[in-house]
Amino acid sequence: MIYKRSSDLFIEAEQVIPGGVNSPVRAFKAVGGTPIFVKEAKGAYLYDEDGNKLIDYINSWGPMLLGHAFEPVVNAVIDKAKKGTSFGMPTEIETEIAKLAVSMVPNIDKIRFVNSGTEACMSAVRLARGFTGKDKIIKFAGCYHGHSDSFLIQAGSGAVTFGTPNSPGVTEGTAKDTLLARYNDLQNVAELIEANTNEVACIIIEPVAGNMGCIPPLEGFLEGLRGLCDTNDILLIFDEVMTGFRLAKGGAQELFDIKSDIVCFGKVIGGGLPVGAFAARDEIMNYLAPIGPVYQAGTLSGNPLAMAAGLAMLKTIDSDSELFKRLEEKTAYLHNGLSKVLTENNITHTINRVGSMISVHFAEEKVVDFETSAKGNNETFKKFFHGLLKQGIYIAPSAFETWFITDALTYKDLDETIKVVDVVSKNL
Ligand SMILES: *Cc1c(COP(=O)(O)O)cnc(C)c1O
Repeated sequence: MIYKRSSDLFIEAEQVIPGGVNSPVRAFKAVGGTPIFVKEAKGAYLYDEDGNKLIDYINSWGPMLLGHAFEPVVNAVIDKAKKGTSFGMPTEIETEIAKLAVSMVPNIDKIRFVNSGTEACMSAVRLARGFTGKDKIIKFAGCYHGHSDSFLIQAGSGAVTFGTPNSPGVTEGTAKDTLLARYNDLQNVAELIEANTNEVACIIIEPVAGNMGCIPPLEGFLEGLRGLCDTNDILLIFDEVMTGFRLAKGGAQELFDIKSDIVCFGKVIGGGLPVGAFAARDEIMNYLAPIGPVYQAGTLSGNPLAMAAGLAMLKTIDSDSELFKRLEEKTAYLHNGLSKVLTENNITHTINRVGSMISVHFAEEKVVDFETSAKGNNETFKKFFHGLLKQGIYIAPSAFETWFITDALTYKDLDETIKVVDVVSKNL
């Protein structure tokens, strides 16, 4: 494959955009080389600026659950655009999508739309703090909740009490209110709560972690968190920006039958347009401005194009009773195929999977948290990534990302992918 035009475009972009990209994960920092510039996409395939066709396992990092340029979404956006693209006034479609979301997701009465997952999580935490009157939050190492200050905190070595900022620009003052826990380690969470009695407002978690590869919650972990929250007056926030409308109609709450207090959405809910949302039961949502004291706003929130895309997406998901079964079957098929060829080629690996999220780790141990995820062999991953790319398979350019399976993928695509992985594995 030739990437001449992509490389040229990247050099041009670097002159005027920091690092040539508008979001760091798009750069190939972790794998080397230069990013592919996409020209267009349809269904399961990307077509780049050099005319290469790629089978896409990123799918805009999650939103394209039904494939690229999905017609009901595209048509809904075109129709709306002709009638004006933003008003800063209420529109009926906002209520329509809100009603649908509330009917699909368990345990929520009201939902507020924003423009990104970051905004959703940031607002959810503010709401939790306002509602409980407490300042501290617990997050898990390796979980991503967007780029707002409170979330850019990682453990210093051995630090379990106070996190240190892992980006300049995040103040120590902010960092001290973010407590870091180990994913899948309930005891660790219990200790943090005890050490900060009556100070913790909320626990925010990806109910299936997807930003350190795909890491399922161990049996009893989410239930345990629910219990700790109940006994300590702490709100449980499920960040379902990745898992919402992907693992089930009602997301992880439905899949695991566990109630969270606030749930955050993004990605799929916007059908590929910039949408985020957070939702909860009345008692919590009524704490928001203009009826409550916690302020939160957005000039373009509930934007008609974004709502039209999201509504078309959710309607399709809601009306297709076989969708999640199909997605799960395709992902399981890929899992089995990858497992088989990697094993045959003696490649040390672990594959994690929940629903249509799957990740391949070149690690010996089970991957259950950030630490075990970080033990994966990054050199092997780099070769794996570039090997796949050369043969037209596009996975995320980092070992810490999930592959997103879309309904547009055919079994032929999956067979092709498994075949390529077989060939690439022989040279790892
Ligand atoms: C992507 C993601 C976010 C951030 O969403 P943006 O739209 O990129 O701001 C937050 N939480 C999770 C779990 C995500 O996967």
